[in-house]
Amino acid sequence: MTTGSPEGPPPQWKDIHQSILSTLDALNASTSWIATAATVGIEPVFERVLQQVCGPAEVSPQAYIEHITRDTGMRREVQQRLSRLMENPKLVTMRREAQRREAEHQLHVLHYVLSGKQPPEWVWTTLDEDQREQLREAAESGEERDDQLLPRVQRAIHKLEVTPGIYGLCEDCYAIILLERLQLVPWAECCAACQRKREGIPDQAPQPEVPITYF
Ligand SMILES: [Zn+2]
Repeated sequence: MTTGSPEGPPPQWKDIHQSILSTLDALNASTSWIATAATVGIEPVFERVLQQVCGPAEVSPQAYIEHITRDTGMRREVQQRLSRLMENPKLVTMRREAQRREAEHQLHVLHYVLSGKQPPEWVWTTLDEDQREQLREAAESGEERDDQLLPRVQRAIHKLEVTPGIYGLCEDCYAIILLERLQLVPWAECCAACQRKREGIPDQAPQPEVPITYF
């Protein structure tokens, strides 16, 4: 691999860049990458594209990234492609499904610790013996009991079981609650803005979208 050493010809950045763009466009028309992106994010998908194109061109993916970081036009073209992939409706649906499943899992585990009521089999079987033992101790000690949190957790579990379509929607403004918020607070009834309103906290500037961290 070379990044354009003085002995060799300089890398054909334009051609490499065009190949990257057309590979990303081709991806958007297929579905093969969606399951990966839904579980581990878009970064590994992008990395595979970089390897695919940069390998045969004998440049390192890092050198390409450095090159387009200095070129606003090229960088923007790649960012647009990546944003388009992130907005793919199938990916969005699959991410939300995966998130719902994960939230349900977290909520059942939390419910066990809060109430002492053992979680369903599908949750229990995903835990290893150490985790089960820790949870059992916490549940039996009753130290984590929280009368305020327990009903909220029960309500979220009920929602997921009975009307999963409305889980993750704000109860006050019906907006979709950000995934990042649900990961931290799977029992959230509201989006962050409405939660602040409920608690009488003044509005803050909206949080920026999660950036793609390559540039
Ligand atoms: Zn809201």
